[in-house]
Amino acid sequence: MNPNWKFSLDYYQMSLAALETALKEIPAYRSWRIYDPGASYPVDTRYEAMPFLTKKDIREYFPNGFVPPDVDIQKGLDSGEISFVQTSGTTDDKVTNIWNQKWWDTSERASWKLNAHALRLATGEHPEAILVNPLNVGIASDTNDLPMEKRRLARFLYLSERTSYAAWNNAHMDRMIRELAIFRPVILEANPSLLAKLCRYAFESKQNVFQPGLIVLTYENPTLFHYRQIRKVFSCPTASSYGTTETGYVFMQCEEGKFHQNSEYCRVDFQPLKKEHGGPSLGRILVTPFHNEWYRLVRFDVGDLVRLDEDGKCVCGRNSGLVLSATEGRCVNVTLTCAGRLVTSRELDINLSTVDEIDEYKLEQSSACSYEIHVASRQPDKKQLTVAIKSILNKLYGREAKISVIHEDIIAPESSGKYRISKALFPLKIEDYLE
Ligand SMILES: [Zn+2]
Repeated sequence: MNPNWKFSLDYYQMSLAALETALKEIPAYRSWRIYDPGASYPVDTRYEAMPFLTKKDIREYFPNGFVPPDVDIQKGLDSGEISFVQTSGTTDDKVTNIWNQKWWDTSERASWKLNAHALRLATGEHPEAILVNPLNVGIASDTNDLPMEKRRLARFLYLSERTSYAAWNNAHMDRMIRELAIFRPVILEANPSLLAKLCRYAFESKQNVFQPGLIVLTYENPTLFHYRQIRKVFSCPTASSYGTTETGYVFMQCEEGKFHQNSEYCRVDFQPLKKEHGGPSLGRILVTPFHNEWYRLVRFDVGDLVRLDEDGKCVCGRNSGLVLSATEGRCVNVTLTCAGRLVTSRELDINLSTVDEIDEYKLEQSSACSYEIHVASRQPDKKQLTVAIKSILNKLYGREAKISVIHEDIIAPESSGKYRISKALFPLKIEDYLE
């Protein structure tokens, strides 16, 4: 563990309480008891000895398996304190969760402390515009245009009702730009792929766009291309917020660009990858949320890879737990070089970012040494672009890699509503790559 990470006494107490309650009282963890070395061991050692919780486990034990026997889920549903929400995605990914709005809001509020702009601007009553896929959050309508007032909810304005951005035409994007100017959000929360698309259009059509105080990027890992396109239109600060429906807000990017753990609201266990695959600073995270009485998850595999900051400290001065230099993308989005080394979405992205003209891309690896990359670009010379991309990918994946470059008008997001930049089309278990 990095000596610069600081954890409060509270953090250890909450970690201990979460584990002990789970082992003693919660059905989903009954089979974990045999792994516990016992109360005389440090809490970190006890956590390390435990298995991890998967979406499959959630499906198996949902909902009563995640609360102590004296907690009545039906009562919570009846009173409206909780509800059931289904996440979008493929069958493997899809899961129904217990949604506790009050807890979610307090978890978000705690994450604001980790970014100076968010702390200064967010009051919990501030107007916020949201540009995300309504499959994830918001109000969906693919047939009718919904007027602005039909897309308002409390302090939020949802900028698009379309479930696919392939359906965005110029009039739809003009409307977003107009509504930003009317609504004047303090914070704009956005899927980076969606905001980048709006920015490409605004830049090309030379429109002035209202500048919020802060842009919070969420739901997806932003690519360097997204950042480049967003920067052409927005000069306000951006912060990437990392969390999941299951775990609440887990990391927030500070004003200096590093990611800090929201340690008042969750415990994070880090599992490094093997050295030959990027470890020990690259690894997977397991999250144990705190304070959610209605949904006790322990060591939940959020399915993401992160990179620990080498120094373990940040010039912003925050030391509330783990410090990351980056989030590296989903475990299901890793690819392999011809020699079998693991490549994260972020590593691919950093390599490709030396090409200027790419709007969007998606790389699929079909077998050990075959890769197909779909590229949307406004560069007219596709031949030259193809050569440049092939050269980069051969350097990254191996000289013998068979690379096909396919030019597209747009790259559609996945059925989950999220944009995916890379994927292996064969089964790949991340556990095989862990230390
Ligand atoms: Zn910082």
